[in-house]
Amino acid sequence: MAPAPVGTFHRRPHPSLSFTSLGSPMSASYDYDLVVIGAGSGGVRAARMSASRGAKVAVIESRYLGGTCVNVGCVPKKLFVYASEYRQAFDDAQGYGYRVDNMPSFDWATLRDNKTAEIERLNTVYDGLLSRAGVEIINGHGRFVDNNTVEVNGEKRLTAKNILIATGTWPSKPNIPGAEHSITSNEVFYLDQLPDDAIVVGGGYIAVEFAGIFTGLGVSTHLVYRGEPVLRGFDEEVRHFVSAEMAKAGVDLQYNRNLASIKKLDNGRLRVTYDDGAEVETGLVLFATGRDALVDNLGLENTGVTLQKNGFIQVDEHYRTEIPHIRALGDVIGRVPLTPVAIAEGMFISADLFADQAPAPVNYEQIPTAVFCQPNVATVGLTEEAAAERFDRVEVYSTQFRAMRNTLSGNAGRTLMKMLVEAESQQVIGLHMVGDDAGEIVQGLAVAIIAGATKADFDRTIGIHPTSAEEFVTMREPSRVVGQAV
Ligand code: FAD
Ligand code: NDP
Repeated sequence: MAPAPVGTFHRRPHPSLSFTSLGSPMSASYDYDLVVIGAGSGGVRAARMSASRGAKVAVIESRYLGGTCVNVGCVPKKLFVYASEYRQAFDDAQGYGYRVDNMPSFDWATLRDNKTAEIERLNTVYDGLLSRAGVEIINGHGRFVDNNTVEVNGEKRLTAKNILIATGTWPSKPNIPGAEHSITSNEVFYLDQLPDDAIVVGGGYIAVEFAGIFTGLGVSTHLVYRGEPVLRGFDEEVRHFVSAEMAKAGVDLQYNRNLASIKKLDNGRLRVTYDDGAEVETGLVLFATGRDALVDNLGLENTGVTLQKNGFIQVDEHYRTEIPHIRALGDVIGRVPLTPVAIAEGMFISADLFADQAPAPVNYEQIPTAVFCQPNVATVGLTEEAAAERFDRVEVYSTQFRAMRNTLSGNAGRTLMKMLVEAESQQVIGLHMVGDDAGEIVQGLAVAIIAGATKADFDRTIGIHPTSAEEFVTMREPSRVVGQAV
């Protein structure tokens, strides 16, 4: 990808503003009020907000404006998800009267290159957003020289009153022989060719999403996970339900398995040996086995910043490291690695430093999230297991059905909807869905949950008919009651 354009100016919209809030006052002895290392989801937001509050801000970016999310994460991933859904749609269309005598052919290069063009457009949009806000964009690798100085590409030195580490994470692979023949999510977006068959390793967000993408694009896909079932940490009923639906959609799920080695064959294919000794050949191995904090060559040894045992940066509730004017946010602090969370943290830090009023803390309790596998999983609030552990009595409303869209099409896919209600207060404390558009539906309902909606509020909400979402306001009898007192 072409390097991101470099901004050539900075502007201070309110040069006379002085900061008297929780942040540090501006000081003439530094080049900047704030230097941000990393122009990803969190860094960009913190930089923009701070500049718009009058601070003199620079952001240093070594790869691509917009960071992981825009370039090798959320955005290209979702475009691939859309692409992968057409195959099923062509199939489903026949029940609605369309004649699809031959499945339309798919051209990977067109999808890949159209995606890349869109990402490059977004890189430009990010450049404009930052520049218009008055942020100076500096292309290069940032490295601490001391607690107030960052060097870019070993040349230019910037001094700053406040420094924000927003460097994100990098995919990690198990250290097995032949791991170099595998890829990660970084490379999957730029493959020369789509393989006929693939092994996806892992059971988290990226693994299940790419198992769905590959399958939808016609790749015979085997998902190999060391545990069972996928999506550890999600509601158990959701985990089992989505596993069954993924299998129905054509993903070969292999549980309690690990790869022991990978060998590249003369014909370009890969021979994979499992830990039980079994061998298979495949066209591609994608490791989606987690991500490590990206702090390589960041010069942290020249600062007093400390890391947690797992390598992520240690911060307090104001995202301050051991050196209070050096803060960190987003994936690199290892809390909740999601784009909207990094953005929320960026807004907090900017306000904490440069606004007159102390900001409200980020709510980590009820973060809505979706996994864009097929079908989608979306959730907000507690799982049934966590709710049962925390409360005496929890009413579980759960329903499974075949969505109307799947009737004429003959599509066997089913939907799960689930609500958890704390019996005494009748407050809805968890909401989960597996099914089409789960992310869109749960995003809306998350507002109600965060506002403290009760089951009675859901009951008195009239449904929109006919939709799948109306099930959330028509479930009347709990399927079961769980909790400490049950
Ligand atoms: P990043 O976005 O990773 O940005 C860090 C930036 O810092 C990068 O641009 C990097 O080049 C730069 N950098 C690093 N070191 C230096 C240095 N020393 N000098 C200069 N620059 C440096 N989240 C969602 O909410 N929804 C999704 O659908 C979703 N899908 C995802 C799909 C995939 C495949 C992946 C990998 C992630 C996905 N995520 C998703 C997670 C999301 O991308 C991250 O949570 C988010 O990008 C974190 O933002 P950040 O600002 O902390 O870091
Ligand atoms: P996850 O933490 O979600 O999943 C990692 C998976 O890899 C887990 O199943 C884990 O197993 C497995 N694993 C870890 N180490 C090994 C190993 N050595 N051998 C075999 N398996 C291993 O990370 P991802 O990389 O999938 O994604 C990173 C983060 O990015 C996510 O947590 C999420 O926050 C974010 N993201 C969000 C998306 C969204 O919002 N839609 C989409 C994609 C990513 P185990 O379960 O046993 O620990």
